[in-house]
Amino acid sequence: MTALEATGRLRPYGIMVADDTARVFDAIAQHGGRARFVGGVVRDALLKRDLIDVDIACDLPPEQTQTALEKAGVRVIPTGLKHGTVTAITEAGAYEITTLRVDVLTDGRHAEVAFTDSWLEDAKRRDLTFNAIYCDLDGTVYDPFDGETDLRDGRVRFIGVAESRIAEDFLRILRFFRFQAWFGRPPIDPIGAEACRNAAKGLLDISVERIRDELFKLLASRSPASTIGDMIGFGVLPVILPQLTHTDCLRIMQWLDSTALADPTVRPDPLRRLAALFSSNGADDDDKGQEDNLAAAEKFARGLRLSNEETGRFAGMVAHAPLIHPKMPDDTIRRDLYRMGATAFRDAVLLAWSTRAAVPPRCSSAENEKWKTLLQAAKNWQPVKLPIQGRDILDARLAPAGPRIGELLKQAEEYWLDHAFAPDRNELMTYLARQSPARKKETK
Ligand code: ATP
Ligand code: MG
Repeated sequence: MTALEATGRLRPYGIMVADDTARVFDAIAQHGGRARFVGGVVRDALLKRDLIDVDIACDLPPEQTQTALEKAGVRVIPTGLKHGTVTAITEAGAYEITTLRVDVLTDGRHAEVAFTDSWLEDAKRRDLTFNAIYCDLDGTVYDPFDGETDLRDGRVRFIGVAESRIAEDFLRILRFFRFQAWFGRPPIDPIGAEACRNAAKGLLDISVERIRDELFKLLASRSPASTIGDMIGFGVLPVILPQLTHTDCLRIMQWLDSTALADPTVRPDPLRRLAALFSSNGADDDDKGQEDNLAAAEKFARGLRLSNEETGRFAGMVAHAPLIHPKMPDDTIRRDLYRMGATAFRDAVLLAWSTRAAVPPRCSSAENEKWKTLLQAAKNWQPVKLPIQGRDILDARLAPAGPRIGELLKQAEEYWLDHAFAPDRNELMTYLARQSPARKKETK
């Protein structure tokens, strides 16, 4: 059977009804082909969510899809001709268009594919029931595995035999948990989860970049902690990232960032959530502990191929959180904000708060108020700059060019911090003049 039976309708909206989308569909039809929405866009449309990426399935071979689109004046990038994928770029957005296909040879990482004219065969090679729903431009829905029911019931289910589907492509293990976090309702499908447990070692063959991307997508869901708990419980996460153990801390973090605080400066943040999961390892508040935390966090972040910026942010919060506590004096808060900036300070506060709240005794409401005060300090923070520079010290002949300038600047900064940033340029120069041994000798 090559055709799919229509099973329902949805009302298209957003990018589904954009003129550019119609142009893409028309171009393919003009060339004798047929296009249908598939994957995320259909799944999200059934849930009436914002539509972002558009995946399209099409029965023309990829070169012909390319020609058809170019003829219609649509810009095309041949992103993966071998696998049947081209990307159409329009003002309304990008469309990933993939020719109907079957996987003929798989090894868990790569697939050799063959093109087909069978919509059902194309559906069977997809991973989850609700990811294999197709939809015409006019909203006619084709749902061969009753994915819509699964979606509405929060059931994340592999198409076909879970073990075999995972053996074809081990990344599906992570996709299974990612979609569980986004659309699943506990308890997790035991058949899929057991199959993931049995195949978990296969993830060692998957590239770190793909693992990282999936993990970040999972952590961007509203409440990832229970799914992360399942990934640990079913022995999946320990195979690839044994450092991620602290689900209790993540649970508090997700509660703070998506429910409790209702603060636009505190949004769900996958990197901060990752730090929460990681933070329990070796948290200690002496200097040695802080250095160890920093080194361990940097090593972990680099291993996960995070960018330099992400690595710095991640390691910074892990190392700094143990130094933050609700009874911090104002002076220390000020110094931290000055040295770290509001964003890094806020990260460290949230991580410290989550770490604290994850262990008994429960935070009293008075303690929670104190934590909130720290966040408020970050919100109110206006960056300030030391009012003098090395040049000023040179010009005033308080020291010759060289390392002494840096030492004096440091002294001035300490004085300025001790006095809550109040001293202005004149006061700082007078203070330094009093400190400088050279000047003292001159005036004797
Ligand atoms: P989103 O784009 O929101 O992350 P998506 O479901 O659209 O989710 P994509 O990675 O864009 O995911 O893939 C589009 C579709 O391709 C999926 O819905 C699924 O049908 C199929 N697919 C993607 N990756 C796999 C895979 N590893 N195994 C089987 N099918 C897959
Ligand atoms: Mg997609």
